[in-house]
Amino acid sequence: MRKTTHKWLLLACLFIQFKSFAQAVDSIRLLTDLKELSSDAYQGRKPGTYGGRLAQYFLSNRFAEIGLKEYTPQYKMLFTIITEKINASVHDSVLSNYKQIYGANIIGYIPGRDTTAIVISAHFDHLGIVGNEIYNGADDNGSGTCAMLAIARYFADHPPQHTLVFAAFDAEELVMRGSLAFLAKPPLPLKNIVLNINMDMMGTSTKNHLYVGGPSYYPWLKPPVEKVHTPGDGIRLGFAYDREHSPDDRTYRSDHAAFHANKIPYLYFGVPEHKNYHKPADDFSNISHAFYYHAVNLVLRTVIEVDINFPERPNVKQID
Ligand SMILES: [Zn+2]
Repeated sequence: MRKTTHKWLLLACLFIQFKSFAQAVDSIRLLTDLKELSSDAYQGRKPGTYGGRLAQYFLSNRFAEIGLKEYTPQYKMLFTIITEKINASVHDSVLSNYKQIYGANIIGYIPGRDTTAIVISAHFDHLGIVGNEIYNGADDNGSGTCAMLAIARYFADHPPQHTLVFAAFDAEELVMRGSLAFLAKPPLPLKNIVLNINMDMMGTSTKNHLYVGGPSYYPWLKPPVEKVHTPGDGIRLGFAYDREHSPDDRTYRSDHAAFHANKIPYLYFGVPEHKNYHKPADDFSNISHAFYYHAVNLVLRTVIEVDINFPERPNVKQID
């Protein structure tokens, strides 16, 4: 009997170990992807530039490798961005006086057993080259983009209940043009989107602090995150950072804002602003590998949790 108990215990331990391995993010792939996407070759990934297009190719290739399904060829959903005035002498309302560039969101999906969908998003664009300096945007937002790839990899091997849409948004730095274009012309019915999980800056925090936005408006989204958070990972979660008019309000600071405006609930994950934010020093060499890895695992576990046990939405008017 004792022996058998031991055998069962051993099997249980192996199962638990296997399960935790199965849920883990591939740290080597995660960091290799981030090192690549935030290298000088991508020239800061500014929309409408060579570096921006290279980032689009990188993401299309990764999506194909992972086996995501396409809504459009090569996962690209083009949209127009009108930028700066190029001829000040003519009346402002004449469109040809403005420089037009194309942005491209890279969108793929894994069909679920349900048609209801969770959109997992991160913007991949950054500031480009300013003066003679390349702004590589490793944390902002190479980190969220490569986290999204890691999550897609997991679900390619573990079919989800909900349809999972992976959205790499372009032109967030130009006032969220990518997510606004996505929601203006969604590739799936908007009513099917039950949640947005948006990541913007996940790669470094001096105090191991990760903000979670959304629960101030959608309190039913807080328990799933708390449930999967393991204090042993050293991450300190902050939940109070999306109340409008508070000094650290994040409601309109990244692409989740476009979902929120369409009354789609969101969870946003991101670190506090740091000294390298929007500086050339936001480089791969300044990413905290352990923090980043744990943060990505936390988001992955959250997606697994809400996919399996989607929280009950209270039948009361949301605070907004
Ligand atoms: Zn950002």
